Amino acid sequence: MLAAMSESSPVLRTAETCRFCSGDLLTSVFDTAFRDGETLERLFFAIPGALCVPCRQLYVDQQLIGILGLGEARCTFAIESDRVLRSPAA
Ligand SMILES: [Zn+2]
Repeated sequence: MLAAMSESSPVLRTAETCRFCSGDLLTSVFDTAFRDGETLERLFFAIPGALCVPCRQLYVDQQLIGILGLGEARCTFAIESDRVLRSPAA
C-alpha cells in the first residue's frame, strides 16, 4: 500500500509515526515495486521514504510520487536498500 506523506497534517508529520497503526516509521531508502491498474508491476530502486514496520505501509513524498507517475499506483513490495547490500557480508 502507498500513502503520501504530504497528506498528513503537520502535527502527524513531525510525530514520525504511522497514521494507520501509530507504529514507528523507518526512514530510509527502499527498493520498491508498484502496480498501476492493469499494467505490469514497475520496479523502482533507491526510493527515499518511510516504512511502517508493523503494517508495512510505505510513505513516499507526494512530489516524488508525481515525478514517478505513481499517483494511481499501489506499492506492492518494498525492502530497505541498505539491508540488501549488507546481508551478504560475513
Ligand atoms: Zn502502520
